[in-house]
Amino acid sequence: MISEKLKKWLQIRLRNDCLICSVNLIERYQTSVSTVSAIDICSQCRTQFTENLFCCATCAIPLNQATQKNDSSQNTAAIEMMCGACQKHLPLWSKALTSFIYEYPVDRLLIALKYQRRIDYAKCLALILSQDIELAYNFTDVNIPKPDCIVPVPLHLYRECLRGYNQANLLARELSKQLKFPLQDKLITRVRHTPQQSRLSKKQRAKNLRNAFSLNLKETIPRYVALVDDVMTTGSTAHAVTKTLLDAGVQRVDVWCIARAE
Ligand SMILES: [Zn+2]
Ligand SMILES: [Zn+2]
Repeated sequence: MISEKLKKWLQIRLRNDCLICSVNLIERYQTSVSTVSAIDICSQCRTQFTENLFCCATCAIPLNQATQKNDSSQNTAAIEMMCGACQKHLPLWSKALTSFIYEYPVDRLLIALKYQRRIDYAKCLALILSQDIELAYNFTDVNIPKPDCIVPVPLHLYRECLRGYNQANLLARELSKQLKFPLQDKLITRVRHTPQQSRLSKKQRAKNLRNAFSLNLKETIPRYVALVDDVMTTGSTAHAVTKTLLDAGVQRVDVWCIARAE
């Protein structure tokens, strides 16, 4: 049992309810204070999330495990975790990493973050993503190259004013705190106000994004950028931002998102 004083402190410091099922986390974990983490999702609900574990190492598209077995039997380690599309035509970015597949319940959290002003969800989601990033990259190893900065995919000023915030910026800010890489959120701006991407085909998205981003020439050009967004769908947005960065002299771009839609 935790003391009343500690419980009160936790109630102030942490939101008490699971973001999915609203169970009170402090009551659920009262026998072990250490289990109450900054991730406001109870252990039962965590099991409902589909982690994007079996995916293309380059574009993070989920791969089915049967395909993976066939590939590994060919003894081609570099190819075994790469989807057919990337094998044919490599994306401009070097590596994409996403924590989850975009389905229930992470979709609900991301929709609420984006459209229902639940900006508090950014911290919890970014914390999960930061743990996955640390596991995947092993940044504690001095020999592993580290991003010079974290850059959020920008919203056009008009849309950001309407919404009041850019959800990618909130996520990038939290990731920057967790991973200790500087945030550089003025590097890229969205110069064209484009129609919402969600109703467009992959081809239409690419066309829609042509010349949509521009580099802020007052900013120092980093060598290695970690680009952050909430969801990766066709990869058109990541492609367009990466192209702008590479054209400006950035040498490497990795893409980090909370979820990957297929
Ligand atoms: Zn729950
Ligand atoms: Zn791929």
